Amino acid sequence: MFDDAPLYLLEVCVPVPLRKNYSYLHNGTVEVGSRVSVKFSGRMVIAIVLSCKSVTQDELPSYKLSSVIQVLDDRPTFSDDLLTLLRWGSDYYQHPLGEVFQTALPVGLRQAETLQDLSSKFTQKEYRLSGSFDKASIKSSAHAQLALVSAIEKQTPFLHEYIKALGLKSASLRALLKKGTIEESVFEPSIEAVSISDDKPELNDEQAVVLSGFKALHDKFSAILLEGVTGSGKTEVYLRCIEEVLKADKQVLVLVPEIGLTPQTIGRFMQRFKCPIAVLHSGLGDSERLQAYLQARSGIARIIIGTRSAIFTPMLNPGLIVLDEEHDLSYKQHDGFRYHARDLAIIRAKQLNIPVLMGTATPSFESLNNAIQGRYQHFELTQRAANAQPPTMRLVDVRGQALTEGLSPQVQSQIATCIEREEQVLLFINRRGFAHSLICHDCGWQSECHACSAKMTVHLKANHLRCHHCQATQLIPSNCTACSGERLVYQGVGTQRLESYLQEQYPSTPVFRIDRDSTKTKAAFEKALDEIHTAKGALLIGTQMLAKGHHLPNVTLVVVLDADSSLGSTDYRAHERLGQLITQVSGRAGREEKPGLALIQTHYSDHPILQTLLYDGYGAMAREELAERELLQLPPYTFQALLRLEDKSETVASQTLERIRSFCESKQLPVFVVGPFPAPLQRRAGYFRYQLLLQSSQRGQLSGSLKYLLSVIGEFTASNQRFSIDVDPQDMA
Ligand code: ADP
Ligand code: ZN
Ligand code: ZN
Repeated sequence: MFDDAPLYLLEVCVPVPLRKNYSYLHNGTVEVGSRVSVKFSGRMVIAIVLSCKSVTQDELPSYKLSSVIQVLDDRPTFSDDLLTLLRWGSDYYQHPLGEVFQTALPVGLRQAETLQDLSSKFTQKEYRLSGSFDKASIKSSAHAQLALVSAIEKQTPFLHEYIKALGLKSASLRALLKKGTIEESVFEPSIEAVSISDDKPELNDEQAVVLSGFKALHDKFSAILLEGVTGSGKTEVYLRCIEEVLKADKQVLVLVPEIGLTPQTIGRFMQRFKCPIAVLHSGLGDSERLQAYLQARSGIARIIIGTRSAIFTPMLNPGLIVLDEEHDLSYKQHDGFRYHARDLAIIRAKQLNIPVLMGTATPSFESLNNAIQGRYQHFELTQRAANAQPPTMRLVDVRGQALTEGLSPQVQSQIATCIEREEQVLLFINRRGFAHSLICHDCGWQSECHACSAKMTVHLKANHLRCHHCQATQLIPSNCTACSGERLVYQGVGTQRLESYLQEQYPSTPVFRIDRDSTKTKAAFEKALDEIHTAKGALLIGTQMLAKGHHLPNVTLVVVLDADSSLGSTDYRAHERLGQLITQVSGRAGREEKPGLALIQTHYSDHPILQTLLYDGYGAMAREELAERELLQLPPYTFQALLRLEDKSETVASQTLERIRSFCESKQLPVFVVGPFPAPLQRRAGYFRYQLLLQSSQRGQLSGSLKYLLSVIGEFTASNQRFSIDVDPQDMA
């Protein structure tokens, strides 16, 4: 390089778990937030530029610096607001910035290709009905084709990616193209005015209050908690607020829980808004995901709907973030960069000076507390919209009762009545497989996984035991491993066993089992939902997958089979979760004209939590529990972080944390340290898992202590151990 050539020193961040930035040289300026390819430890990696300054040869350090291989972005991949968000996240969650960037970067951008080259690779197809289109030309039995036609009728532009997102079939598309019913063209992206459907209900008074409140707030930052009972029309309120923002020519980011991103949800948005919508669902391939990303970034996509990681989507002109089911656990990432999308949404909205609207029937205690303290705007919807009545909830005391496949006589007779009326029953069960686990009736041996301290679950169809933690399987033994006894019995109620029992009892009524085993694919799940929609009387056996979000208009009876495991739990969050679960699942009952009944089976019918929940509602129960948390100085009144350590030796795992604990005490770090104690799942895939809980009433003291600990952590941990920090842990597993 000539002495007088311009020279720039770049500080960059590479995708490795190191809490350190690196310097490279370049002969021109590069904007902060851009991707560059560099050589790092002998291989090429994609790095993100954090700063760029002009230097002279004399100012360079004495050691040799490498030059950047290539600058990949003409406009930074990470705009200022995202950079700020990610730096905040790295700092708050104590996670290396390089890995934080990596999490936020779509896979398609983790390679050395310029954005221009990548964008020019894609041509997007759009579809419209041909001029000569005649609905009569499609056979009325061709449901899939009719569904596609009606979806295309509703949405302009109708992009290729919507087919998957709406659960439609590519085969129908091919058939209709061949017949000439629909036409294909290349989508020419341009920013156009959104057209909004007039087909919408008149808001009720409570909804109208929220909308006018929103209008007053909508051009600046505010965090809004919309606490509305199930079926109270929260989604309708989102749609109205979104309408305001779209009319102001801005974009909207909608976050939904993993389970909530269904064709039903997307269909509702498309029904209302004719505009390009980017859907970031888990079924997307890398290039589709990148396409959606680029559309959001260029401002073409006016609405972006996605799960947790969609919080990192760049937007040209953002106006609102909506977070549906804000209490949902799927917003928290459980490994690597353990962020909470709700907290990032609030930080991002603040940064962008736009509102964030969070809705739920069962607010997380964190958000409810923020609302009560006045940090969030708080709106409530107490009535169901559309004339539907709230479900009647009743406790069924099962003590001393003869249960058949977990069903009490009272529940059995309610099921019979419901089926007679040709209505649907939802039986909620919190387990998978034929039965929970295998127990020896003679000696008490249980089928445990060899690698984990977890029970293995019986899967009769496959004739094996499976560990749900490490996925190990083994054949079902015929004799007890410990005493060779032959009396191995199944423990607990499983969905498969209940399914066969109900099918025997009601041979002419369809029984649907909705869990991860029966509906491995999204398509299978959608198909089951479709059938449930058209069926009259039916029995639905469901796990968490059915508890949330789905509109099941014919369900009038909900049965919660086992509320008890959460009541004796040592996790202080168990009651919060149980309250949310019971409320959400009961909310599936009686969504339309028919009244709903929810029966909760328990051995503890006089438990105060259940009493308050049933007779005064989730809000009252949550406020009582919050008072208790305050008394006990638990979150959200204090702040926690969990240090996790995994080692092949149990002693080493606990001793390492013991030393860290003594260190905290000797340095008088301003945190309260609990542990070390074994994780609830003590052993996983051959590693023993121990943890140390750090707690403080001051957020700053907690993060300061964590930072200090991290700076010396190398003195405690070895490279063959797995060490991680979870700030604001949501579960102790
Ligand atoms: P939530 O999101 O709170 O569960 P939804 O927005 O899905 O509630 O509303 C429940 C049902 O009530 C839907 O079928 C919806 O179309 C209908 N609905 C919502 N608001 C109104 C309204 N103001 N008037 C009539 N029907 C409404
Ligand atoms: Zn035995
Ligand atoms: Zn295992």
